[in-house]
Amino acid sequence: MTTAGREWKGERERLRRREGDANMRADGFDAVVVGSGPNGLAGALTLAGAGRRVLLLEAAERFGGGLRSEELTLPGFTHDVCATALPMAAVSAAFRSLALPVDFAHAPLPVAHPLDGGSAVLVHRDPAQTAAGLGRDGRAWQAVIGATARAGDPLVDTLLAPLGLPRAPLAAARFGVLGAQPATVLARLAFRTVPGRAALAGMAAHSMLDLRSPITAGFGMTLAALAHHAGWPVVRGGSQRLADLMVDRLRELGGETVAGHRVTSLAGLPPARTVLLDVTPRQFLAMAGDRLPPRYARRLARYRYGPGVFKLDWALDGPVPWKDPAVGRAGTVHLGGTLEEIALSEAQVARGVHPARPYVLLVQPCVADPSRAPEGRHTLWAYCHVPNGSAVDMTAAIEDQIERFAPGFRDRVLARHALDCAAMQERNANYVGGDIGAGLADVRQFAGRPVYSARPWRTPLPGVYLCSAATPPGPGVHGMGGYQAARLALRAG
Ligand SMILES: Cc1cc2nc3c(=O)[nH]c(=O)nc-3n(C[C@H](O)[C@H](O)[C@H](O)COP(=O)(O)OP(=O)(O)OC[C@H]3O[C@@H](n4cnc5c(N)ncnc54)[C@H](O)[C@@H]3O)c2cc1C
Repeated sequence: MTTAGREWKGERERLRRREGDANMRADGFDAVVVGSGPNGLAGALTLAGAGRRVLLLEAAERFGGGLRSEELTLPGFTHDVCATALPMAAVSAAFRSLALPVDFAHAPLPVAHPLDGGSAVLVHRDPAQTAAGLGRDGRAWQAVIGATARAGDPLVDTLLAPLGLPRAPLAAARFGVLGAQPATVLARLAFRTVPGRAALAGMAAHSMLDLRSPITAGFGMTLAALAHHAGWPVVRGGSQRLADLMVDRLRELGGETVAGHRVTSLAGLPPARTVLLDVTPRQFLAMAGDRLPPRYARRLARYRYGPGVFKLDWALDGPVPWKDPAVGRAGTVHLGGTLEEIALSEAQVARGVHPARPYVLLVQPCVADPSRAPEGRHTLWAYCHVPNGSAVDMTAAIEDQIERFAPGFRDRVLARHALDCAAMQERNANYVGGDIGAGLADVRQFAGRPVYSARPWRTPLPGVYLCSAATPPGPGVHGMGGYQAARLALRAG
């Protein structure tokens, strides 16, 4: 037995004692997966589906990583702690391959973007209906976003597996030319009106990047096109339900699952020919100690983390009183006004400044899924970007932005719950300094995530793969990092 094996034997006994009959395998595992975010779970299921005996280890007391839901405010109010609008989970190749019976709930409108003066851009499932509301920019919306959406799953697959052969080469080439631009450039070139430009900026700002940076247009185009192609659904009952479905399926396939177990060293893992790590470079460096070749370790050490977030969840005694009632039918709402304002907010964050009027990403889950709150009541979810590691309380700034477009909002608040950068990282070590993207997704780290390689999931340690959002295609609930790493491992035998 190897050293790792001996250490694991002791650990297994400790877990068995802690969990009563934890039903730990006596005969070892083929694969160990560390971390149960959507990537870890997708990887574990891909391996288990191919007949591998899988052990899943999770640091937190509940499985799911970014897919956790809790009663953060009051009893009876279910809040998604992290991810809530899941367009990529609805369409990614990883989730398609798993064919899970996910109960997605769609709001009548995927996205709305209110503007001063009381009107709002409404992004419908139908690109033509969206274009009709954009007046002079309707044609541009159809040409830039509608065409991207019409390319459908083949383009989605190409974008979510950027290192593979493109399934839709022409659409991908067209997307590449437009998407490589800074969002500010594409918005000004393609759109002529304030609403058209603002709508693209609101989508692009999900990237957590300065909108004057390359590829931010691509983030905006992808998310806007997904609103048409797949909608931006939530999971009925909370995102946790998706994680629970995945864990249940893993157990059905014979996988073993242990929560509340933080892995601090690779040497402490049971012997297995495959190890999938749903962690970011910083944790991997710590776990690997001096086992990594110095050159690779230096490259990982250069991996950069991006801005953090300040997140608020509310229990409300009714819906948000939007000036434009149509906004009340949207699942997601982008707050921040014009292209110029949103670009300023994101540029300030990139420079380490807290914006006075932040871009706010807001989700009204009860519009699609009333089960999240007692009858007639609502939950509300929002965050803004802040410099990495920020300890500044952004509650007033976020609520001021909501009041700007929904006067009287504060009167509806029954309770609120805040998470700053430190709290984010405390709950999930992958969110270093509150960076919910597991690393900056700028052009350099889009191409080299976490290092430049044709197979960036593979590490120099035999059988050890990284699979988190710090690998391609990056942040979001799509499971593609885990799926790709698991397929590489299966191919390796
Ligand atoms: C506030 C917030 C809002 C978001 N909104 C959306 C959204 O609406 N839509 C969307 O698509 N995406 C959203 N995201 C992003 C999305 O949640 C992440 O990109 C996604 O969860 C990444 O998946 P992952 O599997 O790579 O890692 P994670 O989901 O972060 O999971 C990693 C897991 O590994 C565990 N772990 C880490 N280190 C160890 C260790 N040493 N030992 C054992 N376990 C360990 C962690 O506890 C965690 O459970 C949001 C994220 C946050 C935080």
